[in-house]
Amino acid sequence: MKIDVLTLFPEIFSFINEWSILGRAVADNKVTISSHNIRDFSLDKHKKVDDYPYGGGHGMVMMPQPVIDSINSVKSDDSHVIYLSPKGSVLTQEKLTELSKKNHLILLCGHYEGIDQRIIDNCVDEEISLGDYVLTGGELPAMVLIDGITRLLPEVLSTSEAYEEESHYNGLLEYPQYTRPAKYLGMEVPEVLISGHHANIKEYQERESMRVTYINRPDLLDKIKMTDRQKSVLKEVVNSVERRKTDGSN
Ligand code: SAM
Repeated sequence: MKIDVLTLFPEIFSFINEWSILGRAVADNKVTISSHNIRDFSLDKHKKVDDYPYGGGHGMVMMPQPVIDSINSVKSDDSHVIYLSPKGSVLTQEKLTELSKKNHLILLCGHYEGIDQRIIDNCVDEEISLGDYVLTGGELPAMVLIDGITRLLPEVLSTSEAYEEESHYNGLLEYPQYTRPAKYLGMEVPEVLISGHHANIKEYQERESMRVTYINRPDLLDKIKMTDRQKSVLKEVVNSVERRKTDGSN
């Protein structure tokens, strides 16, 4: 996969090519990440990239010329252009999976009050938001997108780091994780996990995954199509959580 980032601050991306799992993916040629300075494309003699908004209002808006020229400089037939924007659809794991199958992504980072609407109407395939809040620029959202996509590319994660059982992959949150030692400052790892009984461990993890999701993100449960088995696990979990609430215990 090839990723081109268009930004006013390309230096922010310099470390990404060397950073942990992303750095390994770059070194193994699973992904190529390049950042380009939109200002370099400005035809203005002062390299201006923004101007006052028509109709008044606060701040500055990024102008069409440098942004569109920067897009065209990296665009080819199989490019998918994403504008990181608080007005976009909120990023999900499903969207990351979809994007991980593309050949070429162009990530456009806005700044100031954002970009001229004509750029969005004519050059952008989709707008993606990180969440319902406003950041100063699209650079951190672009990095989130790069990180989330790269780890899904074939052979980027080793089997021990596989993502299929992680939160959101199948619509649920992951079960609690523990590591050695089995007892620390009087706190113990659930006995079933050190029992070596694989079927019981699997059953425990399924139930805990359902329990964490029910407690922390019950809204996710409405979005997944559950098997009969999952439905009965959920029923048990709901009963036990609600019973504990009435008993006043944890
Ligand atoms: N005036 C814009 C609005 O009200 O929708 C906000 C502009 S924001 C200050 C500047 C840039 O940060 C945006 O162009 C966008 O690229 C980026 N940005 C801010 N919040 C974001 C979010 N939640 N998700 C993705 N990008 C965001």
